[in-house]
Amino acid sequence: MISRLVLASGNPGKLREFRALCEPLGITIEPQSAFHVSEADEPHHSFVENALAKARHASRATGLPALADDSGICVEALGGAPGVHSARYAEGAAPREEQDARNNARLVEALKGQANRRAHYTAVIVLVRRLDDVEPLIAEGRWYGEIIDTPRGQGGFGYDPYFYLPALGKTSAELAPEHKNRISHRGIAMARLVEMLRAKD
Ligand code: IMP
Repeated sequence: MISRLVLASGNPGKLREFRALCEPLGITIEPQSAFHVSEADEPHHSFVENALAKARHASRATGLPALADDSGICVEALGGAPGVHSARYAEGAAPREEQDARNNARLVEALKGQANRRAHYTAVIVLVRRLDDVEPLIAEGRWYGEIIDTPRGQGGFGYDPYFYLPALGKTSAELAPEHKNRISHRGIAMARLVEMLRAKD
């Protein structure tokens, strides 16, 4: 089993979650920023293509096995938007927390008067064990919920205060981090990836 990975992301929320998911497996995760690696371009139309591009970019720059997650929220009434554009749904560049607030404001506005609130998070996780890995490991996870108009909770990141889980009566920002990691799109995808890693050992 791999023991050290570079995470192809500069998102502190993702880093926190991946560290919590990987530490019990004895896998140390370092962010690509620790190696002064810039964020990769994400020009593609699908999560899987962007995740692969990010993982290769980080592996090329560091020489290490690289883990990338391309994720986002897909809202049914918006035809699956913002989808792969979730990180930059609101126009213009802004620091991450401000960008999150603006993304959320745009989402609430887009759903004004809309009765259908169904949405899901998707995460596609790619692991390249080396740059020329011809068998990258790829795992997907989805997490279903609804978009609400008023934020609830302080945890998580991004759209979490607006992502309501009817079965739990809570938003994903109201869940303890371990709880979110057990049931989230990222947690599900990571569990699948670990199964693949074990099967390959
Ligand atoms: P990426 O870094 O291009 O994969 O963009 C992912 C974006 O999707 C994040 O910046 C968030 O806006 C959103 N997102 C993905 N996963 C989550 C999550 O677990 N909670 C909240 N927002 C998320």
